[in-house]
Amino acid sequence: MAATEVRDPVRAALESVLEEVRSRTSGEVASYIPELARVDPDPLGVALVSVHGIVHEAGDTDAHFTIQSVSKPFVFALAVDALGLDEVLKHVGVEPSGEPFNAISLEPATGRPLNPMINAGAIVMSSLMAGDTADDKFAAIHSGIQKFAGRDLIVDEAVFTSEATTGDRNRALAYLTLAAGTLGAPVDVATTAYFRQCSISVTARDLATMAATLATGGVNPITRERVISENAARWTSAVMTSCGMYDESGSWLLRVGMPAKSGVGGGIAAELPGQFGIGTFSPRLDAKGNSVRGVAMLEAMSARFELHQLQHRGDPLSPIGSLTRDDDETVASLRGEIFFAGAEEVLARLSPLVSDDGCLVLDFADVTRIGDAAARMFRSAPGVAGRRADGGGEKVVVRDPEGLLGH
Ligand code: GLU
Repeated sequence: MAATEVRDPVRAALESVLEEVRSRTSGEVASYIPELARVDPDPLGVALVSVHGIVHEAGDTDAHFTIQSVSKPFVFALAVDALGLDEVLKHVGVEPSGEPFNAISLEPATGRPLNPMINAGAIVMSSLMAGDTADDKFAAIHSGIQKFAGRDLIVDEAVFTSEATTGDRNRALAYLTLAAGTLGAPVDVATTAYFRQCSISVTARDLATMAATLATGGVNPITRERVISENAARWTSAVMTSCGMYDESGSWLLRVGMPAKSGVGGGIAAELPGQFGIGTFSPRLDAKGNSVRGVAMLEAMSARFELHQLQHRGDPLSPIGSLTRDDDETVASLRGEIFFAGAEEVLARLSPLVSDDGCLVLDFADVTRIGDAAARMFRSAPGVAGRRADGGGEKVVVRDPEGLLGH
């Protein structure tokens, strides 16, 4: 029997936003890097990769382009993963600069570039990668970016050469950070690694997979490989939220509300933590350097599918599944995932039920996951005298067959 084809509704949604923006031809391809001025301005693609590793795509998702600044959050992620946040923050700040990507933007007191999403900060991040030579540092970057994308990626040598021969402003930025004591390598080592990093050739599908790897908390959802720690993924998403869209980051957060990073190659990587990554590609850029049609697609998707990360989503499912009374015992069956607010609800609603002549049983058998903070709240709640399987004598008895509450 022939299988019935079920039309993928996410793909249909991607196709509809793509067709909506197709006729927009405003903006210009980047021209300050001569090789980028030669790219075809017309390709248009969008891909979405869920945290379960399912890929949905529409348009030119196989078209290759250089990653450019979309590499910056991922190299920041590799740096904080390898060196720790404290060490990295000695070299770079995390404040939005409100200035163009190539601005001379160093904190007066510390000499740190304002954030790792502007060129000065990104060059410093590249300089912090392992090894002494540009080849060593680029090898660490390349291998990390390939793990985010889940496949081998090549460098567009023509773009690299073009960028390296015309990149005096970036070298000037590197010299300033060297003089300020924040650059981690000689200028030519740092900038060569950085220029190669920006020249890595990717597709919209690669950017979606890379962003999805941040959305899962650091595990590539397709290869299942852990690329960075959960903390590194969260810190990276935070910096993308505040600084990812050049000097339009504030209005982007207001209108679209997804951590994102764009690049002058025409790509944008965006994510919704815990849900998915999106990659878009369209080379014509607005005056700030963001892809005109990429921004338009992400704006439309955010509005239509309620993707803003600060969207109010209604009351979550109560963790109290049922309450049953049996002689002098009240049994509260808890369920699902319990974090701070769930623990607060359980403890506030159930503590009045603790009385002198009976006991309250908190049954965690149907709880699938509990956050560390929530577990601590339960452990320290007044009256939680023991975590025994049967209870007896205590006012609050915890049934915790899987040992979720820890010690
Ligand atoms: N390689 C580019 C530069 O350093 C990246 C710029 C960008 O994508 O914002 O100028």
